[in-house]
Amino acid sequence: MKKRQRATRLVAAAAMTIASVAPVAAAPAPAQAAVPGVAKTYASLMYRSLTADATMAKLRSTLATQKTDQRKRDSEAVKAKKVNDSAQARLASVTAGHKAVHEKLKSAERALSDAKNAVARQSKQRPRNNAAIARAKRAVTAATTTRDTRRTRLHQAAAALRTAKKDASTARSALSGATSAATRAASAIAQTQRRIDTAGTAAGYATQAAALSRTVVDETRPVFTVADTTSVYGTTVHKNVAFAFKRMVDDARADGVLLSGGGFRTKERQIELRKINGCPDVWTAPASSCRVPTAIPGRSLHEIGLAVDVTSGGKTLTRKSKAFTWMSAHAAEYGFVNLPSEAWHWSITGG
Ligand SMILES: [Zn+2]
Repeated sequence: MKKRQRATRLVAAAAMTIASVAPVAAAPAPAQAAVPGVAKTYASLMYRSLTADATMAKLRSTLATQKTDQRKRDSEAVKAKKVNDSAQARLASVTAGHKAVHEKLKSAERALSDAKNAVARQSKQRPRNNAAIARAKRAVTAATTTRDTRRTRLHQAAAALRTAKKDASTARSALSGATSAATRAASAIAQTQRRIDTAGTAAGYATQAAALSRTVVDETRPVFTVADTTSVYGTTVHKNVAFAFKRMVDDARADGVLLSGGGFRTKERQIELRKINGCPDVWTAPASSCRVPTAIPGRSLHEIGLAVDVTSGGKTLTRKSKAFTWMSAHAAEYGFVNLPSEAWHWSITGG
C-alpha cells in the first residue's frame, strides 16, 4: 500500500508541474469551438446545480423587494386616481362657471345696448325732457360699469379654466403613468414567481449532468487539447469541471478537509507511468495487471482532465482517510465519482 501511495504522489507531483497559471474559472468556460455541445451542457448543468440554492435565495429576495415595490406602486396609483377624480370634477365645475359668467356678460352687453337706445330715443323726444335724458344717461353709466365688471369676471373665469384644464391633463397623465407602473410591478412579480416555481433543484441538475457524463468523456476525448484545461489551486482539470472542482475544494475546506491532487496528465506521461508502474506492456495489458493500476494510454480520464487523483494534506487518499469519508458523502454533488479499486481516483464517470 505504501508503494502505491508513493507512486500516486509522484503522479500528483508530475501533474502539478504541468499546472498552468490560468485563473480559476468563476463560471463555466465560455463557448469554444473545440468543446462538444454535450460537455458545455454538462458544465452548465453542474453550474446550475451548484448555484441552485444561491439562485433561489436571490429570487426570493428579488420577490420580496418587488412586493414592497408593488405595494408602493399600488398606493401611488390609488392616490393618483383621487387627484385625477378631483381635477376632473374641478374642471367640470370651472367649465360650468365660465359658461355662466359668459352668459351674464352677454346679458350685460344687451342691457347696455338697450340703455344707449333709450338715451337716443329720449334725446329725440319733443318737448325735450332733460330730467328723463339725464336718467337715461345715468342708466348707460350703470350698465357700462356692470358690463365692465362682468368682462373682468369673464377674464378671471377664462384664466381659471385654463389652469383647471392644465391640472386635469397633468392629473390624467400622472394617473396613466401610475397605473402602468403598478401593472409593470405586478407582472415583474408574476415573472419572478414563475422562475421560482420552475427552478430546478441542486440534486435534479446534478442527476441530469451525471446522466451525460459518459457521453461527455466520449465526445471530449477526440477533440481535447491542453488549452481546454485550467488550474484550480494547482490541480489542472478540464475547464468544464473547474467550477465544480473548485467548489468541492472550497466546501471541503469549510468542513475542515483539505483536498488537492493530480488531475490532467499528458498521454506521454501516461506511457511513462505504464512503465514506472510495472504494467506487463504499454498498450494492451489491463490497468489491473500493473503494480499500481494504470489505464492504457488513450483511455485514462486524466489525459482529458476529467479525473483527479486526490490527496489530502499531501497524502494520497485511502479508504480510511477523513477526506475519503467526506468525498464519499459529498463528491457526487460536484459531479465526482470514485473508481472503487482506487480510493484516490475520482472522475466524472467513476472510470
Ligand atoms: Zn487516477
